[in-house]
Amino acid sequence: MTDSDAGFDPTSLRPSLFVDGQWQGSSDGGTRDIVNPADGSTVAVVDEATPDDALRAVAVARSTFDDGPWRSVTVGERSDLLNRIADLLQRDKAELARIETLDTGKTFGESEIDIDDVTSVFRFYADLAVVQADRLIDVDRPEILSRVVHEPIGVCVMIAPWNYPLLQISWKIAPALAAGCTMVLKPSEVTPLSTIAFTKLVEEAGVPAGVVNLLQGSGAVLGDALTRNRDVDFISFTGGLATGRHILAAAAENVTKVAVELGGKNPHIVFADAVADDQAFADSVDNVLTGVFLHSGQVCSAGTRLIIEESVADRFVAAVAERAKTIVIGPGMDPASETGPLVSQAQREKIEAFVAGGIDEGATLVIGGTKPNDPSLEKGSYFLPTIFDHCNRSMNIVQEETFGPILTVERFDTEAEALLLGNDTNYGLAAGVRTSDAARGERMVRGLRHGTVWLNDFGVYTAAAEWGGFKQSGNGRELGPSGMSEYQEAKHIWHNTSPTAAGWFGTR
Ligand code: NAD
Repeated sequence: MTDSDAGFDPTSLRPSLFVDGQWQGSSDGGTRDIVNPADGSTVAVVDEATPDDALRAVAVARSTFDDGPWRSVTVGERSDLLNRIADLLQRDKAELARIETLDTGKTFGESEIDIDDVTSVFRFYADLAVVQADRLIDVDRPEILSRVVHEPIGVCVMIAPWNYPLLQISWKIAPALAAGCTMVLKPSEVTPLSTIAFTKLVEEAGVPAGVVNLLQGSGAVLGDALTRNRDVDFISFTGGLATGRHILAAAAENVTKVAVELGGKNPHIVFADAVADDQAFADSVDNVLTGVFLHSGQVCSAGTRLIIEESVADRFVAAVAERAKTIVIGPGMDPASETGPLVSQAQREKIEAFVAGGIDEGATLVIGGTKPNDPSLEKGSYFLPTIFDHCNRSMNIVQEETFGPILTVERFDTEAEALLLGNDTNYGLAAGVRTSDAARGERMVRGLRHGTVWLNDFGVYTAAAEWGGFKQSGNGRELGPSGMSEYQEAKHIWHNTSPTAAGWFGTR
C-alpha cells in the first residue's frame, strides 16, 4: 500500500466472483495480484476464476434467462433498475474513480469523467428501453395482425479491455439490462477492480440473482468456456484485433453472434486553412495534443496519425512538440498530474519496441522515445510523449496500433492526398478533420471510412450516438439505438385472426 491508496480498502473487493447472486472465491482458490502502475505496488488481490467457474456462470445465466422470474420483469421495471444503478454510480463516484485510477493509472479527474459517462449510458438506455415500440406491418389484409417485436437475445458474454474498464463494460451491461438479457462479465485481468465495485451496486440496485454474473481471470484461460459455449447467445468483445479474430473463429463453431470493438489507427487531418490565424493555430495544436496524449495514448480512438498540409507542417509539428514537452506526467492521484503511467511494464516494453522500430524505419524522432528522467517516477510504468516526423504509409509505426503516447506525422499537398492517407489503414474506428472550409469539411467527412468522424473537434462522443468501427476496427455498434438492437432478436409475428385453409394443393 502507498499514500495514494489511503482510504481504499482492497479487502472489500473479495471475494471477487459473483455468480447466481453470491459473492464467492475461485473453485481452486486461485488469486491474482493487481498492480498500481503508478508505483508498481500491489493495490489489491482478486480471486481468479477457473474454466469450471466460467461454465457454471454461463449455466446460471442460461437458467436465469430461460426459467427465472427475470423474464417477467417489465420494461418499466428494468428502466427503473437502470436509473437506480445510475443514482448509485453518482453516489459512489469518488470511490469508483479512485479505484479506477489506482488500477489503470489514469488521472483521478479522467476517472471522474469516466464515471459520469458511465452514468449517462445507464440513463440513456433507461429512457430508450421504454420508448422502443413494436413495428406494425400493414399487409393489406384486415384479418392479419403482422408485427415485429424485439425480444432479448438471451445469455450474453461481455469481455472488456483495460484502458476504460468500467466505461467499456457499461456500454454492454446497460443496453443488455434494458433489453432483458442475462450476462456474464469478464473484465480485463489487468484492471478488474472497478467492475467488482460496480457489480456490488448492481446487487444493491436490486437486479435479481443470476442476471449479472461476474468472473475474473485471463482470457486465455477462460476464453473457450465463454466463447465455445452453446449456452451463450451473444458475445460482445472490446479489445485487440488478434483477440477479436480468435473469438470470432471460436464462436463460429456454434454460430454464436459476436460483436467486436477492436483497435484504431486514427488520422487527425489538419488543412492549412484551419490554422490561418494565431488563435486557430493554437487551438488546433491543443486539439491534436489532447487527441493523442490523453491517457498516455491508451485510447482506441486516439488521434495517433497527424496528417498535415505541407505548407504549415514544420511550424505546426514544432508547436505540438513544444506543448508535449510541458505535459506533467505523474501518479493519477496527484492533482498536479496531467497524464499518468502506461497500464503496465509490459505495455511500456511494447511501446519501447515500437519506438525502436520507428527509428529503424527511418522516421525522425522529434521528442520523447524514452521513459521520463525523473527518479520519483522510477517505479511506475511511465513513458514520455513521443513524436515521429517524416513518416510514410509504408512504415509499421504508421500502420500498427501502438496504444501508447506516440504521434506520427505525414504530410500532404492536396485534399485528395489527405483523403487517401486518412483512409490508408486497415482500421476504421475514428478520424478528425480540421478545416475552415465547410464544403471541404463535408467532402472529407463523407469520404473518410471511419465509424466516427469529428470535424473541427476530436475525441468527444455521446451515449445517444452509435460507436464502432469500419473495416478491421470491428463489427456491430455500441451506444445509440443500434447499441441496444445488438442485444435483441427481431421476431416477426403473423397472426391470422380468421384462419382458413392454405388452399394451395388440390385446387388446380
Ligand atoms: P486484449 O485483446 O488483450 O484483451 C481484451 C480482453 O480480451 C481481456 O479481457 C482479455 O482477458 C480477453 N481475452 C484475451 N484472450 C482471450 C481469449 N482467447 N478469449 C476470450 N477473451 C480473451 O486487449 P487489451 O490489451 O485489454 O485492450 C487494448 C485493445 O482494446 C486495443 O487494441 C484497443 O484499441 C482496444 N479497444 C477498443 C475500443 C473500441 O471501442 N473499439 C475501446 C477500448 C479498447
